[in-house]
Amino acid sequence: METIYKTMTVPVKCSRSDYEYLSNCNKLSAQVWNRIIELEKEFRNNNDGKWIGRSKLQKELKGFVHLHAKGIQHIIGKYLYARDGSLASKKAGQSNVRLPYRNKNYFATGWTYQDIKIVENKILFTKPVTKEKINGKVRRQKPVVCHVKFVPDNIVQIELIYRNKLYLSIKYKEQSEHLQIQSNNSASIDLGEIHSIASIDTCGNALIITGRKMRAIKQLRNKHQARLYRRLSKCVEGSKQYWKYRKAMQKLSVKYENQINDAIHKTSKLFLDYCLENGISTVYYGDLDSATRLTKKKRIANNYIRQKLTQWSFGAIVESLSNKLSRHGIKLIKVSERYSSQKCPSCKSLKKPRNRQYSCQCGYKQHRDIVGAINILNDNHEINLTHYVSKKYLRIG
Ligand SMILES: [Zn+2]
Repeated sequence: METIYKTMTVPVKCSRSDYEYLSNCNKLSAQVWNRIIELEKEFRNNNDGKWIGRSKLQKELKGFVHLHAKGIQHIIGKYLYARDGSLASKKAGQSNVRLPYRNKNYFATGWTYQDIKIVENKILFTKPVTKEKINGKVRRQKPVVCHVKFVPDNIVQIELIYRNKLYLSIKYKEQSEHLQIQSNNSASIDLGEIHSIASIDTCGNALIITGRKMRAIKQLRNKHQARLYRRLSKCVEGSKQYWKYRKAMQKLSVKYENQINDAIHKTSKLFLDYCLENGISTVYYGDLDSATRLTKKKRIANNYIRQKLTQWSFGAIVESLSNKLSRHGIKLIKVSERYSSQKCPSCKSLKKPRNRQYSCQCGYKQHRDIVGAINILNDNHEINLTHYVSKKYLRIG
């Protein structure tokens, strides 16, 4: 038995007052963070440049804001980790290292398993004890109640993160039971926008899951958002109408985000079924991180392309796949995808495909996304596929 740590992210579902309380927690956490930076500066000035320690910080910050004690410790931990990390890389000769700096408005609040309670499908977050006494007694405040569809066992820590609304990032322990599939069939994935997933396995079974639905959701979202933006821009900032539109936009993004998340889950479920059906135990996927980062650096003027790239939901699909596949002992391995879309699987010459169909001067013709998948598999496995044997074309309902 092996212990593995996993993270799942779920939207915060709670009462309005609890939601406000939680939002405020991230503001308070930012205040703590900013105060830590100040304390560090003061300490270094008074102690010949020595770095401040954990216990000193804990002492100084006790009761600094009205936040649960473990929440403050969480921020101290994060700070020390960031500081010592950058000091270490400075020591290793990296020159462009920046130490943690202040002026955060929000900071992810943390709770450990000791600060939470689980009752059925609810996670209860304890609030700090107030000093006011009611009837001569210190009263504990009612905890924040969040509804979560599936609460994992052995929660280690929960972080409250903000991505245009609040989410719980739940870290938990799991005992891996080695449900390893008894086969050494491997597959590769080429992730894309037209087709969310194009895959092929060593036996030549190809799978394409179309991203049409996901694209339709995003297009609709963009249209609605643009309409609201236009209206918003005509309002006086801060006016009643302005806030009305702002609220509507918030609501809109939540609505579409839920739809997109649902589409992502369905996509990765289809892929899992394909893996189980074909006895696939290892899956390689192309490292798109570097590609997206590169384009950012180049600062493409073309907003359209950037929008396309950022809306790819690539990271979310990988995360969802990783969650689902690991439960069945299927390994998901990130590999470099250099030239995978350009290389001809037959003659190995490079050519940029112009449209959805890849065609090479040697006469090789193939669906573009399948070429990507074939190359990723060939590059990482002792195999030399050029064509598929069977092809499945699936879409999410
Ligand atoms: Zn060729």
